[in-house]
Amino acid sequence: MTPLTRPYNFAAGPATLPQAVLEQAAAELLDWQGRGVSVMEMSHRSEAFEGILADCEARLRRVLAVPSDFAVLFMQGGAQAQNALVPLNLARARPVAVAVTGLWSAKSLAEAARYTNACACADTRPACTQWPSPAGWALPAGAAYVQICANETVHGVEAPLHAWPDLAALGSDAALVVDASSNILTHSVPWPRVGLLYACAQKNLGIAGLTLVFVRRSLLGQAAPACPTVFNYTDAAANRSMTNTPPTYAIYLAGLTLAWLEREGGLAQMAERAQARSSTVYAAIDTSGGFYRSAVEPGARSRINVPFTLATPELTTRFLDAATAAGLLNLKGHKAVGGVRASLYNAMPLAGAQALVAHMQQFARSHG
Ligand code: PMP
Repeated sequence: MTPLTRPYNFAAGPATLPQAVLEQAAAELLDWQGRGVSVMEMSHRSEAFEGILADCEARLRRVLAVPSDFAVLFMQGGAQAQNALVPLNLARARPVAVAVTGLWSAKSLAEAARYTNACACADTRPACTQWPSPAGWALPAGAAYVQICANETVHGVEAPLHAWPDLAALGSDAALVVDASSNILTHSVPWPRVGLLYACAQKNLGIAGLTLVFVRRSLLGQAAPACPTVFNYTDAAANRSMTNTPPTYAIYLAGLTLAWLEREGGLAQMAERAQARSSTVYAAIDTSGGFYRSAVEPGARSRINVPFTLATPELTTRFLDAATAAGLLNLKGHKAVGGVRASLYNAMPLAGAQALVAHMQQFARSHG
């Protein structure tokens, strides 16, 4: 194995990929397994690509323990398209509710409201620094679904797994919809509570262009007539995601990423690593004597995206410039919140988090 000589890339997505995945993709770029063509050049209807798609789905089902009564859909349009496609496919003119806990769930609410009667069942704005207890949510009667964002990539708020709402226990027969774009494959999924879960691929599952949708089959068959055919979940499930040309190369890279994840020890190992990486960085924040600050309540701190601030914008800029010079890339916070954000996806080694901490400590010493 080649030693890691590349800088550490803390981008929020598209994000760092396992080096082994990039090397395999490079080795297979011109000629996939002796076929004489690249995966990019294959028909999506070819036997070879059918095999790649089937392998990717089988790995997803195995790694995430997806129950057989869920369809796995390989879609396009990115995670934001789902903000429209979920109501178009599931709402059937019923009300829906979104727990607004940050920028991404706020977008989900605003988009759903274009298609149906949508309300916030919880709203932590403007601070967005906590995970509101589902017991206090205002669930509308007759709701088709209730949506959460499992990990707010911008605000760094992650729903603790035990706090994913059990809607049936809360007296609602709405389906739980989960945007897991930034923490899919970093812990197990409590499927009995879930109706639909989606995630874009460009953080933990490869590259942009692919969005995974896991949908309980009993929720199919209710799409609004206005739902575009290529975004109809029922059609996608019936056509095995081949209603039109799927994002073939992104699916291939998702398969390579999943194979890497399985070689590395699977989901339990990924959960352990996420905990180890993030607690390393939070410890550096908490022991900095206020030089670095995290606004998020400890129980809701994301294991994946760690935003933090320094005292002034000037100091932040100096921190980021010095980080880049030290080979720690793309640490700038989202423009909506500023500051610094370290995105620590599965492909980020613990050594990357440790290198960031070393930089934080050295910078605080020289600027404190
Ligand atoms: N939801 C979450 C939680 C995200 O982090 C992102 C992207 N950062 C999106 C939705 C939107 O993804 P896309 O750009 O693929 O539409």
